[in-house]
Amino acid sequence: MDANATTPLLPEVMEAMRPYWMERFGNASSIHLDGQQSHSGVDRARATLAEFFNCHDAEVVFNSGGTEGDNTAIFGLLRPGDHFITTSIEHSAVLRAADRVAQQGVEVTFIAPLPSGLINPADLSRALRPDTRLISVMLANNETGVLQPVEEIGGIAKAAGAYFHIDAVQGAGKVLIDVRRIGCHLCSISAHKMYGPKGVGAMFVRRGTPVEPLLVGGTHERRRRAGTENVPGIVGLGKAAELAMLSLEDGTMDRVSALRDRLEAGILALPGTGVNGVNQPQKLGAPSLPHLCFCGKGGIPQTSSGHVPGGDCNSIPRVANTASIWFDHLEGEALVIALDLKGIAVSGGSACHSGATEPSHVLMAMGLDKSRARASLRFSLLKTATDADVDYVLQIVPEAVEHLRAISPVAAGTAG
Ligand code: PLP
Repeated sequence: MDANATTPLLPEVMEAMRPYWMERFGNASSIHLDGQQSHSGVDRARATLAEFFNCHDAEVVFNSGGTEGDNTAIFGLLRPGDHFITTSIEHSAVLRAADRVAQQGVEVTFIAPLPSGLINPADLSRALRPDTRLISVMLANNETGVLQPVEEIGGIAKAAGAYFHIDAVQGAGKVLIDVRRIGCHLCSISAHKMYGPKGVGAMFVRRGTPVEPLLVGGTHERRRRAGTENVPGIVGLGKAAELAMLSLEDGTMDRVSALRDRLEAGILALPGTGVNGVNQPQKLGAPSLPHLCFCGKGGIPQTSSGHVPGGDCNSIPRVANTASIWFDHLEGEALVIALDLKGIAVSGGSACHSGATEPSHVLMAMGLDKSRARASLRFSLLKTATDADVDYVLQIVPEAVEHLRAISPVAAGTAG
């Protein structure tokens, strides 16, 4: 239940990679046969990634993953005096890079999300300036799964003459990515979030985009990323991308979203729970906790009194596998540990911040109060998840919640 932190290799990915560690170990830059075998493995992966992004082979740059892609877009394009627009719900790979360029004289505007977790394109338009050089917005949020309106933002960037980068790490393999349709210049993905190996990723770089490389040295990747290619990793990413394209077409995502919806509905049957990033109809018999609902006024969050019976409360688009759920009257970390003891891996906030006691910056930016943000858990299903997995979680979570609420100092202070 923690697939947004990372995913296992699919067996086919492991099989595709295996020869490139042993009998096909050549350096892809060597001109002898060994080298050429590796080179063609990289070329095949590049062609698959070009299909995955809907771009030309020459526009695919292999790298070490999402962090490197995000950093490359920001450090590679921005110079002191430029204006940069991003959002306050980005991954730290974008946020910390933004902090660094801000220290170097780039002016940065962080757009806050609506309470639903959506970035409002109108807010982004209002932040544009004549010197805005780059806009960076994620495709899917790692904590809530909310999908951002990247096509609309692509149109805004084009009209403004700004470069547009998408951190698509959490969207890749879950929704179709078409960089031509979106009109972005840069798009970062990471293999380990899509059933490929860790430490490898790819970036779409639109032809003619003047990104300075982060790493210099050899002429690898058309001088856009120096360093001997991680051939097994790249081949694994290629296979993972091929399988991801298949599972976008064969009904896998519908199956995953049905499982996620069942998981969510089962947990929401508990009192004092709710979903972040989407709103559910008011539950029958639920206590009168404030419950946001989107069906009332054209996507503007309403309290439960704004719910229109039969209205489309689920209109906020999300990836199929993610559910971010708050549990009142308990400590989120205690629930993470209780579930872990029963063999269920979930994340409180972003896994990259685990160990930190600060509540999730994403949930705080969406306007949750600190205690509810702290008491939110992210369930993110693998695409191999089964009905039995969901049954087990729905058996364990209510027991754990009931137990923790009975002993929690948080409940003692606020319940009743
Ligand atoms: N961007 C997002 C949205 C992520 O969720 C992550 C990882 O959690 C990253 C970037 C960083 O990717 P990587 O782990 O490949 O460096």
